[in-house]
Amino acid sequence: MGAGFLIQPNGMRMLRSLGLAAGVENAGAVVRRWQFCNEQGDVLSETDLEALWGDAGPCVGIERPELQRALLPGVADLRCRLGTSLISLEQNDRRVLVGFSDGSTGDYDLVVGADGIRSTVRALTLTTAAPSDLGAMNWRSIAPIHPAGLSALQIHLGEYCLFGLVPMGAGRTYGFAYALEQRFHDPLEGRLQRVRNRFASFGERVQQYLASLERDHQVICSAMEWMACEKWYSGRVVLVGDAAHASSPMMGQGGCMAMEDACVLAEEMSGAATVESALASYVSRRAPRVKWVQHQSMKLAENLTAGPSAVRNAALREHGNEAMRARFGPLVPAP
Ligand SMILES: Cc1cc2nc3c(=O)[nH]c(=O)nc-3n(C[C@H](O)[C@H](O)[C@H](O)COP(=O)(O)OP(=O)(O)OC[C@H]3O[C@@H](n4cnc5c(N)ncnc54)[C@H](O)[C@@H]3O)c2cc1C
Repeated sequence: MGAGFLIQPNGMRMLRSLGLAAGVENAGAVVRRWQFCNEQGDVLSETDLEALWGDAGPCVGIERPELQRALLPGVADLRCRLGTSLISLEQNDRRVLVGFSDGSTGDYDLVVGADGIRSTVRALTLTTAAPSDLGAMNWRSIAPIHPAGLSALQIHLGEYCLFGLVPMGAGRTYGFAYALEQRFHDPLEGRLQRVRNRFASFGERVQQYLASLERDHQVICSAMEWMACEKWYSGRVVLVGDAAHASSPMMGQGGCMAMEDACVLAEEMSGAATVESALASYVSRRAPRVKWVQHQSMKLAENLTAGPSAVRNAALREHGNEAMRARFGPLVPAP
């Protein structure tokens, strides 16, 4: 709950088609520029997001609880059961029988597994393979300030690590730190001080951000993982979002891809003659775009954190904006 989220214009386009974009935009802050900076905070490259995305929509920084609140009107007419997990699945060619953790069962025409990177639906239907480690750790938090009047998304780049700052609504900022390190458990006690020490060589803006945090539990820490699943459906059970294709978060596109998946699946379901043909069309429309994001996110993580910083910084000064446009350009047309 204590982290932020960037909904890029392709995600906002999906929310607009569902009548939910205005509420999300009001609860967050529009981000107009994306900057890469050196460790001290000097700008190396800048991308104008409105010029890049055209009329796809705004790019919005929003706190996760605010996003959830702004999306709730979209499910007002649906029956939602909280605190209940899917635990079993059995299907024949007409129906899927589902068992839930509260002992109840249900049978359905179609089951959509939107249950995240550790998807139970995937494990019960398609593969029990586990997500892979990216060999990186991240620390995320929300601070009650805009350090030094921050108005753009900034990614400050150090040696084998980075610190991102995204302006949110209500004068708050989302900070995410990323470091190439093997998975470890970072206990809650003393976590804030360890993050301050770990990023002490970064410039004034990052220091102001870290100084404005007060408690260990404001900092969420996790190991980074990804998941690529060969098949996304079997019979009448289909996966969307991270369940099918969790990505490195470097492009900030995982949630946007999940939104696009859901909307494309709905479109295909409403137009197709059979469930099988709808699911086949859904996968053929989605897989190339999702693969692009997974591949580009991985490459970006490597470019930003793996090599010598002098070479990387020079490349960003020279080609940073062009590279951003090439990376995100294929996502500008609707899916
Ligand atoms: C550090 C980091 C930063 C990121 N930043 C961004 C960003 O800025 N922008 C962006 O677009 N993406 C971002 N992402 C990616 C984004 O968070 C995910 O891609 C997105 O949340 C995927 O949505 P989802 O609905 O597929 O899965 P999830 O958000 O994981 O939701 C899955 C849901 O299923 C529920 N569930 C799990 N198992 C069961 C079960 N058996 N029965 C019932 N329910 C179940 C869970 O409780 C959960 O509510 C980031 C990811 C990380 C790790």
